[in-house]
Amino acid sequence: MADKLTAVKGMNDILPPESARWEWLESVVRSLMSRYTYRNIRTPILEHTRLFVRSIGEVTDIVEKEMYSFEDRADKHGDAEHLTMRPENTASVVRAVTENNLLYDGGKRLYYMGPMFRRERPQRGRYRQFHQIGAEALGFAGPEVDAELILLAVALWRELGLTDWRLEINSLGQPEERAQHRAQLIGYLEQHADQLDEEARRRLHSNPLRILDTKNPAMQALVNGAPRLIDFLGAQSLAHFEGLKAMLDANGVPWTFNPRLVRGLDYYNLSVFEFVTDRLGSQGTICAGGRYDYLVEQMGGKPAPAVGWALGVERVLELLKEQGAELPQPAPDAFAVVPDAASLPQVLRCLQALRTAGVSVQMHAPAGAAAEGMGSMKSQFKRADGSGARFALIFGEAELAQGSVAVKPLRAGPEAAQVLQPLAEVAVWAQTLRQP
Ligand code: ATP
Ligand code: MG
Repeated sequence: MADKLTAVKGMNDILPPESARWEWLESVVRSLMSRYTYRNIRTPILEHTRLFVRSIGEVTDIVEKEMYSFEDRADKHGDAEHLTMRPENTASVVRAVTENNLLYDGGKRLYYMGPMFRRERPQRGRYRQFHQIGAEALGFAGPEVDAELILLAVALWRELGLTDWRLEINSLGQPEERAQHRAQLIGYLEQHADQLDEEARRRLHSNPLRILDTKNPAMQALVNGAPRLIDFLGAQSLAHFEGLKAMLDANGVPWTFNPRLVRGLDYYNLSVFEFVTDRLGSQGTICAGGRYDYLVEQMGGKPAPAVGWALGVERVLELLKEQGAELPQPAPDAFAVVPDAASLPQVLRCLQALRTAGVSVQMHAPAGAAAEGMGSMKSQFKRADGSGARFALIFGEAELAQGSVAVKPLRAGPEAAQVLQPLAEVAVWAQTLRQP
């Protein structure tokens, strides 16, 4: 027997009825983004590998070990290209914005939704294909846009009914401030080299800031005593941070200052933030972001400040489930019972008209071949009931002979009577079938 075909490890099918939750979340996001005037951007899933190496940073988990990269076949004229399935979308957005000169007439507010790919160890809340929704504001320097983005996320949690989150914020300052801190931090960590784990030792000279982010319990005391980046920030960086905090306070958004929050990607400066929950185990970050004022220039664009965040869709939905949120149960307005296959052409015409008028109708269709017939009325009514529809439309021979269809309420009490409706005037009675 042939090998059983399965999905790739760490990559999941999103099936009904669960997919209804995804569609609902996406529709809430779209509505919210439009109120905050963020416009949708869609970039390709495949990009040149060097885009991510240059933006995310060579010594990051993502670039070091998590990317799905391959060499494309050479075409007739060119060399083979090194391509990568996007592990995140900010780099691609910056590329697209630069390549298409989108900032020529001022800043842009953009959002995206879609799959990202990282070769990580699959576990709850951590997959190899996962989905992010992200918002990016490019061309704006002030903390009010950092605040706007955080408020947008807070509004999203509210509209989704998500309550178990907290907001952690920090400032990474500017590159010169980071350089001074870095030297002191390396000195401190070298003095305590015996307490460093293997990963920390590897990072000591390449990316020491990331060591502060360690989840290793044995190193907590060490990193808690390390020099804090915030103490190296100058007046301007501090003013930006204070500005953000004042705007969050004015909006009643609770935050905690986490001096060890650094983020996993290299390109951040000034404000960084994470929305975290305690209810998803160690995969507790549901949304993360910050400023990346130098990335556009670094990617070859005209210098432009920028700030953004990305949320993990799987984790947000997992948290909603954890909180007991109900699954949306889409049910049709009506179910078409069709006793005789000969009437199908007429039935389809009626259903087409109903759907044009905004009614959702499920058509009975038998599983077997045409010769086996449509199935008994009893079995069709059973299906009508199972569909959750509020009405059955009965296209019986007698009704059709009168140019009508029988509309039978399925969910109302016994007093609710079946009525005959004329096929010639669907638009007139269609509205009576729709959800009030
Ligand atoms: P983590 O520390 O959990 O690995 P990260 O710092 O790598 O997260 P980002 O690159 O900032 O994550 O991505 C933003 C969000 O995307 C995360 O906060 C998380 O919710 C989600 N996310 C990241 N990686 C995964 C993954 N492998 N599976 C599911 N969601 C993910
Ligand atoms: Mg990660």
